[in-house]
This record gives sequence, C-alpha cells and structure tokens, in this order.
Amino acid sequence: MNRFHLPGCLIIEEGACERLNEILADCIPGIEEKKAVIVTEESLLSIIGAYLDEMKRDLPKSELYLIEKNSFEQAMELAKYICMKDVEIIVGVGGGKVLDVAKYAGFVGKIPYICVPTTLSNDSLSSPVAVLGTEGDARKTLKCAIPAGIVVDINVVMNAPLFHLQSGIGDTISKYTALYDWKLDAAHRGERVDDFSYLISDMALSSLCYNEEKSLKSKEFIKILTQSLVLGGLAMEIAGNSRPCSGSEHLFCHSLEENHKEIQISHGMAVALGSLVSCRLQGRDVGMLEAVLKAYHMDMDPMNWGITKEIFTDAWLRAADTRKDRHTVLNEVELSEALLGGIYEQLRAGN
Ligand SMILES: [Zn+2]
Repeated sequence: MNRFHLPGCLIIEEGACERLNEILADCIPGIEEKKAVIVTEESLLSIIGAYLDEMKRDLPKSELYLIEKNSFEQAMELAKYICMKDVEIIVGVGGGKVLDVAKYAGFVGKIPYICVPTTLSNDSLSSPVAVLGTEGDARKTLKCAIPAGIVVDINVVMNAPLFHLQSGIGDTISKYTALYDWKLDAAHRGERVDDFSYLISDMALSSLCYNEEKSLKSKEFIKILTQSLVLGGLAMEIAGNSRPCSGSEHLFCHSLEENHKEIQISHGMAVALGSLVSCRLQGRDVGMLEAVLKAYHMDMDPMNWGITKEIFTDAWLRAADTRKDRHTVLNEVELSEALLGGIYEQLRAGN
C-alpha cells in the first residue's frame, strides 16, 4: 500500500487572510519563532500586500520572496535560498504559478509548505505534484509532497476573475473520464486501482456535479469547489500517482501544450473540453457533463479558443504519445481524422 500524508489543517472561510497569522500559529505551533519565507508574485501585492505586511509584522523572522515564473530554475533558486538561509517554513500565497514553485521548493528544501491560494483554477492546491517548465522544453509534472496546511479565503478567491473558477470546475469534472480510463487500464493490463482513492475522486466529482448552488460567485459554491479540488489532490496522494484525476482528457491538454503552444487556454478549460471528447470515445452518455458545463456557462466551442479542426485532430492523434506509460481509451479506439472531425463539429454545434 502506498504511504500517504494528509494536510494538518484545512481552513475555508471568509476573511481567512485577515487572520492568517492566527491560523498559521494553530497549524504550526511556535511559528512566530521560526524563520518563514512568504512566496508570492509582484502583481498580487496590490491585492494581498496588506495581509502580507501584517504577516511579516507578526512573524518577525519572515522574509518576502517574489517569483517571476513557474520554471524549474525558479523553484531551484528558491530551494537554494531555503537551504542557505535555514528557512523552516514556506508559505505560498498566489495562483497556480506561485503555488507550484513554492510547493516544489519546499519539497526540495525539506520544510513544511502552507498553501494559500488566491484562485481556484485546478486541483494542484492539495496535490503531491508540481508542474514546472524549463527553457525550450514542455512543462513537466514533478512528484513532491502535499501541503502541510491549506488556507482558502472565500472573499479572495471569489473576487478573482470568473474564468479561474470555471477552470476549477473543468479540472473537477475531468475526473468523470479519468476514473473510467483508470478502470480501463486495470482491465487491460492489471494496473492497480486504489479503491479508497477512487472513492475520494468520485466524491469530489459528485459533490460538484450534483450540488444545487449554481451561482459561481456565492460563498456556498466556493466552499463546494474548494472541497472538490482538495479531495482531488488527496486522491492523488493516496493513489501515489495522478490516475484518479488524470486520463485521456489530460493527455489532450498535454498534447495541446506540447504541440500547439500558440493556443491560449487554461488547464481546466482544456481538460473539460477533453472530457467531452473522451466521454464520447469511451462510448458513454455525455449528457451529465454537458449539463454541468452549461449550468456554469462554460464555453466549449473549440473554435472560440482558437482550436481549429486541424489543431483539434492533430492534438488528439498525438495525445497518447505524451504519456506512453498510460493506457487509456486512446489505446482502445481507432482514432481517425473522420471520427475526430465529426466530434469537433458536434462540439461546435453545442451537442
Ligand atoms: Zn488537472
């Protein structure tokens, strides 16, 4: 059985950033005496700068560290800083870019990492992986540790642009096809499906898909989405890999990133689009996914994201090659330009 860890604290409340020091003191006893590094990026200072100033006042040994991009080099530079300056705690405050760098640097520096997301755009806030790029290469998913604590300020994430929340929905509903692909792998070559991890990922999916609150900018919805994203991360930690949250729909997203860098689409939107296609390839009814995406006004017309039929077809034909070690529905259906072109037209027509 895979050995796993769970975060020591999970706080989802309004105004959590205003009392971040209090929360951190509960989560990590004696933190005020420890040397902490607070990681964020310059563009966020106008939004969260006041909270960080307060943190620095109450944590006298803390330092602010600004990052510029989510590169492997940036994470290594930060890890070096942690090691050379004897930093004991790392707190990442920001979106996916900041959080991935802070998470990986904390893992390399072997210190506890506290995650304070300012957006809810994917399940990396609690996952045991960080996605980092390096010059000239596609971004890579790197194994690391899950956070020691997660603090979500409902007011902060609710005020982020709407597309972040829609991306978070996309990353959650993609579990519908990812879980199916995981079972396909088990049937095909005996890949072990961890039952508990499967259950948690399925719960993350169901609690979002079958909830009554459809207003994205509501406190109730933010709580549901946070819980679903956190559960997704925990499912990966328990499984010891990303299979409970990542199937053929994620391979499509990787293929777009690697082969069509000009396409500007968020991870969550790309995997949502991917799920609509994978679900059809899996021979399943796409009605539930379509209903959820429609309820949250998510634009699933590929052309509106700059994805032409040629790009769409090419990305799917090359998707399986992005992770050859994974068996998914892409290894079981005969993909052709005609089949993919037909699905593309269905997506464009909204059915
Ligand atoms: Zn994802």
